[in-house]
Amino acid sequence: MNLAGRLTLGVDGGGLDVEQASDKRFSADIQAVYARWEEFTEWARGQKNVAGAKPIDESKLGAPAPRPAQLFAIGLNYRDHAVESGLKLPERPMVFTKFPACIAGPRDVITLPPGSVDFETELVAVVGKRAEQVKAAEVWKHIAGVTIGQDLSERELQLAGPPPQQFNMGKSFTGFAPLGPALVTPDEFANPDDIELGCSINGEEMQRSRTSKMIFSVPQIVEFLSSVLPLLPGDVIFTGTPSGIGWARNPKRLLGTKDELVTFATGIGEMRHTFVNRADRS
Ligand code: ZN
Repeated sequence: MNLAGRLTLGVDGGGLDVEQASDKRFSADIQAVYARWEEFTEWARGQKNVAGAKPIDESKLGAPAPRPAQLFAIGLNYRDHAVESGLKLPERPMVFTKFPACIAGPRDVITLPPGSVDFETELVAVVGKRAEQVKAAEVWKHIAGVTIGQDLSERELQLAGPPPQQFNMGKSFTGFAPLGPALVTPDEFANPDDIELGCSINGEEMQRSRTSKMIFSVPQIVEFLSSVLPLLPGDVIFTGTPSGIGWARNPKRLLGTKDELVTFATGIGEMRHTFVNRADRS
């Protein structure tokens, strides 16, 4: 995880500062560790019962992949979400980007631009090994781990104009890609292709599903992406949202300054976000 900007390993008893515990073999910069992922995980496996772990102050958690070279996102990847959006099921992964400068942490206060800001709970995969022309069966070996993401979306700009619309812009306002609270390696799940996830606003459940219901699994998504261009260590992939988004509700349920959005995935943890209007942010 990223604790106060420093790469921190989750161990029994809290968090271990990796730069200190490794005698500076690994840097405190979490983004840099993905380029040495295999070496890092080998070192990390030996650090389970060591002294020096400190309790984790969750208010200081940052994004586990704050500066990827590339950020991919997949649209319409759950059948029930495609249906609620009134759109046909895609025949191959429908890809767009959220520009990486919009990545935020799991506890940040997020600025709402004018318009209609919506939530989309998603499993996010982070690449741990360069992936080029990778077949689905080999994909998990190229993934460092998974975390939770919110694909925050300002729907009016996103859907403005004729297709192809402004997906990349409407989903890339400052702070619109919060990630966290931690990166969890695939081997820590009984089945990394079946992870429960969801979100609530002010305690009211909005979304709940499982990644086994995705139309294209993480392996299928990466096979497709890597058939076009290489995926690099530290790259981030948002994998699509299940049904329950605010825009498809009647009446619509959009995010406002009185809301607390809690996003969870079993085995990963939760993110908690509150919001301010752009005009009120100094
Ligand atoms: Zn999405």
